[in-house]
Amino acid sequence: MSERHSDVLVVGAGIIGAAVAYRLAAAGMTVNVLEAAAAPAMQATARSAAGVRVQFSEPVNVQLSWFSIREYRNFQELYGIPSGYKPIGYLFLVPPEAAPEYRRALEMQRDLGVRVEELDPDSARELVEFDAAGVELATWGPDDGVIDPHLVTMAYLRAARSQGARLHTDTELLEARREANLWRAKTSRGEFTAPYLVNAAGAWAGLVAERAGFELPVEPVRRHVFMTGPMAAARDLPLTVDVASGFYLRGEGERVLFGMSNHDEEPGFLTGIDWGWLEPTLTAGMGRFPWLEQASLDQKACWWGYYAITPDDNPILGAMPGVDGWYNAVGFSGHGVQQAAAVGLLIAEEITTGRARTIDIDPLRYERFMSGKALRERNIV
Ligand SMILES: Cc1cc2nc3c(=O)[nH]c(=O)nc-3n(C[C@H](O)[C@H](O)[C@H](O)COP(=O)(O)OP(=O)(O)OC[C@H]3O[C@@H](n4cnc5c(N)ncnc54)[C@H](O)[C@@H]3O)c2cc1C
Repeated sequence: MSERHSDVLVVGAGIIGAAVAYRLAAAGMTVNVLEAAAAPAMQATARSAAGVRVQFSEPVNVQLSWFSIREYRNFQELYGIPSGYKPIGYLFLVPPEAAPEYRRALEMQRDLGVRVEELDPDSARELVEFDAAGVELATWGPDDGVIDPHLVTMAYLRAARSQGARLHTDTELLEARREANLWRAKTSRGEFTAPYLVNAAGAWAGLVAERAGFELPVEPVRRHVFMTGPMAAARDLPLTVDVASGFYLRGEGERVLFGMSNHDEEPGFLTGIDWGWLEPTLTAGMGRFPWLEQASLDQKACWWGYYAITPDDNPILGAMPGVDGWYNAVGFSGHGVQQAAAVGLLIAEEITTGRARTIDIDPLRYERFMSGKALRERNIV
C-alpha cells in the first residue's frame, strides 16, 4: 500500500469505523481510515450512554448485540486491553399496553440463547426503587450493562494499526468519485484511492453519501445525557428504562446519569445542550423515580451528541446496491456502541468473501427500503 492507495478506505474513526478497520486489516487487507476530527472517537462514540443490551424487538439486533457483548466480555484476552464491560443489567419497566409485545420479545430473545427474564414490579423494586403505578411487569437482562466505548475504539485502532492500517486524522472526505473500479476520495488532505469504501461516518453518513452523488436515509438527531451530583442511590443502579415515558437512568460511579429522547425535535445538526429539555426530562423521571427530587444537577458533567437515525430506527449494513465498491455501516439509531464488534466482522466478511456470514444481515440491507420491507425496532431508548 502506498500512503494514499489501499484496498479499502474507511470513512470515520468512531467505534464502528475502528472495528471495521481492524477486522479488514486482520483479514489481510490494506486500509486507510479517514477521520475529519483531530482525534478518533470524538463524536457519538464518546458521547453515548455506553449501554450494551440484548433486549431488542428485532431478532437481528439481539444477535448483533449479543455477539458484541461476548466480544467485549473477553476483550482483555482478545486485545490486551479491558473493554470496561460491567454487567450492571438493563431493566425495562413496562406498562400494561406494551406488556404483550415485551413478553413476545422475551420469548424471541430466549430462543436466540440470551439470558432475560420477566420480573414482577416488587422484584424489580429490589433492583431500583420506583413508583410501580402503571407498571405491569419488568424485563431484566443480567448480561446487559455498560462498556467504555472510547477505550474499545482505541483498542480496535491499535490492533488495526499493528496489522498495517493507517489512521489519517484531520482528514475530511469532501468528495468521492468512482473511476476505473476505484474510489477517488478528495479530502482536506489530498486524494486517496481504493477499490472499496466503507461509510462509517455516523451522523454524517448521509452527507458523505451525498458527497459521492447518491442519497442515503441517515439523519442526525440531537440527544442529551444529564448527570446528578453524588448521591448514595447511584451505586449499582442498573440501566433502567421507564417504557411509558422513555426516561432512563443508571448509576455512574457516585452519580446518576439520566436522559430522555426529545421526539419533537426535528433532525438536523443542532448543537449544544438544550437546557429547556431538562425540565420535561426531570418531570418524567421524578414521576417514576420520586427519589430523584433529592438530586442535585452536575451541570458541567452533562453533554449532548447525535443519534444517526434511519426511517425504521435500524442500521443500514452491507454493500450499497447500484454503487460499486461502496459499503454501509451506518444509521445505528442510538445503538451502535453495542453492535460495533459484530458489525466490524460482518463488513469485513462482506468485502473479503462477498457476503456477511456470521450473522444474516439481509434484514438490515439498504434493499429493505426499495422493497418496502423496512423493520421497526421498538426498543429504542
Ligand atoms: C447521547 C447518546 C447516547 C447514546 N447511548 C448509547 C448507548 O447507551 N448504547 C449504544 O449502543 N449506543 C448509544 N448511542 C449511539 C452510539 O453512540 C452510536 O451509535 C455509535 O457511537 C456510532 O458509532 P459511529 O462510529 O458510527 O459514529 P461516530 O462515533 O459519530 O463516528 C463517526 C466518525 O465519522 C467522522 N466523520 C464524519 N464525516 C466525515 C467525513 N466527511 N470525513 C471523515 N470523517 C468523517 C466523525 O468525525 C466521527 O469521528 C448513543 C448516542 C448518543 C448521542
